[in-house]
Order: sequence, then structure tokens, then C-alpha cells
Amino acid sequence: MRPVYLDNNATTRTDPEVVAAMLPYFTERYGNASSGHAFGATAADGVRLARRQVQALLGAGHDHEIVFTSGGTEANSTAILSALESQPGRDEIVTTAVEHPAVLALVAHLEKTRGIKVHVVGVDGDGRLDMDDFERALGPRTALVSVMWANNETGSLFPVEALARQARAAGALFHTDAVQGVGRLPLRLQDTAIDMLSLSGHKLHGPKGIGGLYLRKGVAFRPLLRGGRQERGRRAGTENVPGIVGLGRAAELAARYLETEQGWIGGLRDRLEQGVLARIGHARVLGNLADRLPNTACIAFDYVDADAVLLMLDRAGIAVSSGSACASGGMEPSHVLRAMRVPAGAIRGAIRFSFSRDSAGPDVDAVLDTLPDIIGRLRAASPLWRDRTPTFA
Ligand SMILES: *Cc1c(COP(=O)(O)O)cnc(C)c1O
Repeated sequence: MRPVYLDNNATTRTDPEVVAAMLPYFTERYGNASSGHAFGATAADGVRLARRQVQALLGAGHDHEIVFTSGGTEANSTAILSALESQPGRDEIVTTAVEHPAVLALVAHLEKTRGIKVHVVGVDGDGRLDMDDFERALGPRTALVSVMWANNETGSLFPVEALARQARAAGALFHTDAVQGVGRLPLRLQDTAIDMLSLSGHKLHGPKGIGGLYLRKGVAFRPLLRGGRQERGRRAGTENVPGIVGLGRAAELAARYLETEQGWIGGLRDRLEQGVLARIGHARVLGNLADRLPNTACIAFDYVDADAVLLMLDRAGIAVSSGSACASGGMEPSHVLRAMRVPAGAIRGAIRFSFSRDSAGPDVDAVLDTLPDIIGRLRAASPLWRDRTPTFA
């Protein structure tokens, strides 16, 4: 039986074409991209092509910069720290309650250790940003507005282009953690007011440990890592040439498949949601259903523990994520669902299914064949279920 992998927001399979593109850069074209000889030039050519491929996927002109990083986390850290360092006199950050820990943990640390003021804007029950709160938070001391493009737990999208214009009007820089959106939704960065954007290779069928930060042409910048002159002084350290080449190829493939694949991925997701809701009671889909990623379904099941469901699905060869695991890899209840004021019981039973272009109809069938029985058995054994007060009389 083919294993069913529906945890593509955690990571995706590296496309075999990506691996094939990378291999020569380990074994034959292994030069240091900074070296003055032919080996170096070959490596530098690989990096140059990858930069073009990423720029093309993002709809960024060639004069906009891509700084290759070790992943989404480093890109986010670079953007946030750069914005603070490059704008003396501006020491406030505006962000949201549903960002990835790569943003929230850093800004909490800056607040505690450097006296940076952080405005954490809330969301409503569907995960939509509180716009009044957002506008109140912007001010003359705002250095940076950092709002994710797509939420990793629910798939909810944020209107980053409009938010970027508002940030610019307030004289602040605008950054978006677009790790879950890049490669899944079309983008033309050069037509937007977005100053910085983070992406990660392993969320778009590229390798792990490589990512990038888009910098709008001319945006003020301070490097996170200092040392050698790699990346035009933007990021010191010998380039991860095979990883960069792999990210470039992954970006090229994503751009090629983007239009055709997202429609049928959304179809699989919708069939899963409808099938689950038809078969299992006391369940609901969470997130902004009117505006979300096509690949993500976050479904809350009352009266079960999502980690028990995850374990039983895993035994059946089906990989998904729970509300706690997708938040932090730990057992803390999801900060995203808490910010949406989802009742504690539903948070405990929240499961995330996330699809990719490797997904197929039989993956959905496997879930629909297995999940009702798992939920039924767990509920039958649960005192919560026996003592429940039905939501509807
Ligand atoms: C995965 C993820 C990250 C972290 O990216 P890494 O490359 O794993 O460091 C950041 N933000 C979001 C929204 C993510 O989903």
C-alpha cells in the first residue's frame, strides 16, 4: 500500500528533477562560487541561474534582489533585524497573532531584550485580520510591518498587497513570510509595495536548509551574518551551491505547474472536506473559507484528542498534522486557533490535511475509508463524548 502523505505544509517531497539538478554540484561542479578559476565560475553560474528562476517565480524584475539563506526562518530573522537596524528612530514592529514561531519568537525576544515595542494584531473567528487594530497599530515609529501571506495551519490568506501599501503610507517597511504561498499562488512582486518576502525551498518541493529573502530594489538593508562578501555582502558564508541550484529548479518547476496544479489540488481538498463532514458529526472546517490556500484543510473534531487521531492514522499509513504539532512540534495548543478563539475542545481535536502535486485521489479515499472509524472508536472510549452536551438540540 502506498503511504499517504498529507502533511505538505510541514514539508514536501524533493522533486526528483530538483535532486538531478543538484547532484552535479556535489560531484563535478563543486567549486566555491567566490573562486577566480573555472570551478568557481561554474558554481557562480549555477547560483546566477537559480536567482533568475526565483525572480521569475516571484514576478520580481532582475534588479530586485534575492538573498539566499538557510531557509524561511533565517529569511524572517534577517528581514526583521534589518528593518530595525536600518531605520534608527523607528523601534516598533507590527505583526499578527497567527505568524509562524519564526516571527513570533523573535519579536518576543526583541521586546524583552531590546525594548522594541511589538503590536500583535488579532484575528477574527475565521482568521481574518482585525483591520481597525492594524490601522491603530501603525505609527511614526513603526519600523516594520510583518504579516504572513498564507497561514501554515489553516491556509487563510492575508491581503498583503493592500497591507503593504498601508505600511508604506506610514513610512514603514513591509515584510511578508510567504513560505506557504510561494509556488502555490501566483505573484507579481514588482507591482506591489512589498519590500521584503521570505520563502523556503522545502515547502515547494525543493531541498531543506535553503531559502531566500526577496529585497525590493533600493530597500535599506543590514546583513544578519557578517564576514565574507558573498551575496554582495548581504549574507556572509560560502554559498550552499547545490541547495541554491535545487531551490532554483524547484522555483522553475513551481512556476511551470502553478496554473494547472492548483485547481485539481483544490478539488482533492474539497472532496476530502465534504466527505469528512458527510461521514463524521461534530466536525467543522476552520479558517477563512472565502480566501485560503487551495491545498490546506484544517478540520476540528469535537470530543477527540487530535494527537490520538494522528497516531491511529499513522498506524494506518496516513500522515497528517495536529493542531499542536503544526504549531510548534510540541504539545502546546495551537496559538493560531487560540487567536481565532476556537473553543478549547475543538482545538484539542484539530487536524490539518495539506496536499501537494504529489497527492492523488486514492489519498482522499484512504482518509475517508479510515477516519470515521478512528473518530468513532476514540469517541466511544471518551468520557467527553459520553457526557457531551449536544451543540444542537
Ligand atoms: C515552514 C515555515 C517557516 C520556516 O521555514 P524553514 O525553511 O523551515 O526555516 C516559516 N514560516 C512559515 C509560514 C512556514 O510554514
